[in-house]
Amino acid sequence: MKVSPDILSLTPYRPGKPISEAKRELGLNTVYKLASNECPVNPSNKVVAAIKAHLSEITRYPDAAAFDMVNAYSRFLQVPTNEIAFGNGSNELIDLLIRIYCEPGDAILTSQGAFIAYRISAQAARVKTVETNLLDDGCFDLSAMAEAVKKNPKIRLVFIANPNNPTGTYVDRENLQRFLAACKDREILVVLDEAYAEFVRASNYASGLELRKSFSNVVILRTMSKVYGLAALRVGFAIASAETVDLINRVRNPFNVNSLAQVATLAALDDQEHVRWVKEQTWRGLDLWNATLNRLGLKYFASQANFVLIDCAQDSDPLFNSLLRRGIITRPVKNYGLNTHLRISMGTDEENRAAIAALEAELGR
Ligand SMILES: *Cc1c(COP(=O)(O)O)cnc(C)c1O
Repeated sequence: MKVSPDILSLTPYRPGKPISEAKRELGLNTVYKLASNECPVNPSNKVVAAIKAHLSEITRYPDAAAFDMVNAYSRFLQVPTNEIAFGNGSNELIDLLIRIYCEPGDAILTSQGAFIAYRISAQAARVKTVETNLLDDGCFDLSAMAEAVKKNPKIRLVFIANPNNPTGTYVDRENLQRFLAACKDREILVVLDEAYAEFVRASNYASGLELRKSFSNVVILRTMSKVYGLAALRVGFAIASAETVDLINRVRNPFNVNSLAQVATLAALDDQEHVRWVKEQTWRGLDLWNATLNRLGLKYFASQANFVLIDCAQDSDPLFNSLLRRGIITRPVKNYGLNTHLRISMGTDEENRAAIAALEAELGR
């Protein structure tokens, strides 16, 4: 049967190597996975208890409106319930936004080095991806993006990951405000993907939660996969105009977030103590990694997220493979056109120390 070339040229998403696979292939007993920006510690006890308490309900379909979860999120963010949509991870929301707002032949705008899901979702919907170049410091070039918006009437959606994965870099309040002002007289939505917003320490960072008060065309994406540690349960949120939320609710699958994920999200939001602990663990890791990379003379992008992107100054495969043989799974990012870089997620103190020891041994320093 005839299939669109856009579909045929897609390649399946390659996730980080699973621990079990690395153990099997290399005959190792201890393997640390610092490859998928996951939460390195156990989930909150409250989350585990909530899931156990609701296990027997899995015979029933989940609440299609996720009433309790949306209300809890609304209270947590101080955003009205009709401005909150939820997805099977924020990945589903990326997909839905493109399907809702773009016709085949339209375009989305993002940056080179941006989270790859934007491009994949666009291509699957026969939508083009326009990319501006990354700046030398790994940040998105918002002036070039504003130019692209001005020039290209096909652009319907802009995706800005803030902070971005895999670079860990962010765009500051002033630059973002200037960009949003430049988009104002175009029928365009600006999606601020804030999967890592909780980890940001930069004082000139502005969340879309602040900016949407002045710019009504902002859509914010948040996820339960990172600081909240619920990656396997697949829960993401969009904070957007009531109109956009209504459209998402028309297009999404009716039971896109399962019942255990819904109760886990409630419990996770309720345990901000645990969130603080995860953040402190992450920051301790970042400080240690930054100091180590400076000492080793390796280049890296300043990260505001829970990972760091290292420039090995050579093809990244050999270093990836030798770290793997030492039981450390990192993430090459060649699929982003970054051929000399490795992304390392922040682990526990023990995992960070082991990874740093492996790196030092490999580099002979
Ligand atoms: C991890 C990540 C997400 C989250 O994806 P989920 O589908 O919610 O697990 C979204 N955006 C970026 C940039 C990410 O790195």
